[in-house]
Amino acid sequence: MSELRKDYYVPDKYVLIPNNIDQFDKFPEMVHKKQQSDIVSDSINCPYCPHSSKECDNLVLSFVVKEGILQRLYDTTEDENENWTIRVFECKHPIVSSTSSHKYSDRPFYREPACGYDLIVVPTPKHDVALSELSVDEWTNLLLVLQDRVRWLYSQRGVTYVAIYASRGLDNGTSIRHPHFHITTFSAIPPIIEKEAKTFHQSMNESGSCPACDMIENETNGPRQLFSTSGFITLVPWAPTYNYEFWICPRKHSTFFSKVTQKEIKDLALVVCSSLRGMDKTLGQADFSIAFHISPEKKNSRQLHWHLEIYPLVTSWSGLERGFGIFVNMPTPEDSARLLGDATRKELARLIGVL
Ligand SMILES: [Zn+2]
Ligand SMILES: [Zn+2]
Ligand SMILES: [Zn+2]
Repeated sequence: MSELRKDYYVPDKYVLIPNNIDQFDKFPEMVHKKQQSDIVSDSINCPYCPHSSKECDNLVLSFVVKEGILQRLYDTTEDENENWTIRVFECKHPIVSSTSSHKYSDRPFYREPACGYDLIVVPTPKHDVALSELSVDEWTNLLLVLQDRVRWLYSQRGVTYVAIYASRGLDNGTSIRHPHFHITTFSAIPPIIEKEAKTFHQSMNESGSCPACDMIENETNGPRQLFSTSGFITLVPWAPTYNYEFWICPRKHSTFFSKVTQKEIKDLALVVCSSLRGMDKTLGQADFSIAFHISPEKKNSRQLHWHLEIYPLVTSWSGLERGFGIFVNMPTPEDSARLLGDATRKELARLIGVL
C-alpha cells in the first residue's frame, strides 16, 4: 500500500511513500555519488585559506586553541594570521544588506529591504577536508563559535532570526571546497521556522506538552532511530522532505541553542561527527545541506525545541515536489534509517574507541 504521511510539525506538508518496492531495490545504485573531482579545489584562490589576503579585510574574529581551550585572538599580527583554528568573516558577497534602504512597495509588487548580517565561519585552516572529516574536537570548537555568534547576533537590533546552515556541493552558486558555515540573519522569522514554531506554541498552550519531546519519546528505540547518546537522538523523521533526511535533537527539552552547556556541545559534536561520517559511508560523498532549526530568541510565542536537520541531495525533485508540495520518499524512511543507522552506529563506536 502506498501511503501519504504528514510531518510532525508542519501540517500542510505531504510525503508520499510508494509501495513499489521492487523498483527501489536498485536505489543504492541510483544514488548519485557525486565525487568532488569536478569541483574546483583550488586552494591558491581560496578566500578562506591561511595564506589568503583576499578576505582579511572582512575578518571579524579569529580563534586559536591553546592548551586545549578555544581562545579569541585580539591581535591579528602576521604570525597569528597564519596560526588560527577558526575564523569568522563577513561574507564578501552578502545576500542580505547591512544598510537599510527604503525600497518598500505593496502588492502585487510587494517588497521590503532584506537587512541583516551575513557571516562565514571557517572551522579549519585546512582546505581539503570535508565537514564530515572534521574531528570531534574541531566540531566542538565550531559549535562553540556558532553559539557565541548566535548570542551576539540576537543581542543586535533588527535581528529576529539567526539562520545557521552549510552545504557540500553547490552553495549559493559558488563551489568553494574549503569547509565553511553560513550565518545569515533576518528581520522576520523564516517560513519553515514560523510553521514549526506555531505548532509548538499551539501544543504548549493547548496541552502543555512539547511536540518534539512527545515525538522523541515515541521515536526512541523505534524503527527510525539511528542512534542516541545521553543528550541527543538522531532519527529519520516520519515524513521527510528529502530521501535519507535525518535530524539530531536534544533529548531533553531545550529551546535556546545559545544556552546549551559546554558538556552538551561536546556530546553534540560527537553525534554530528558520527552521523555525517555514517551518511558518507552510506551515500558516498553526496552533496548535502545542514540547517540549525533554533528558536527566534526574542519572540516568546515562537520558541521551538531546537534541532539540526540534514538533507542529503541524492535525487532530484520531479514536478510533484516542485509544483505540488508532495514529497516522494524512496526508500521508505524506515529503510533509510536502517541503512544510515548501521553506518552511523559504527562511526560512533569508532569515535568513542569501542571498535
Ligand atoms: Zn581554502
Ligand atoms: Zn521539547
Ligand atoms: Zn525543523
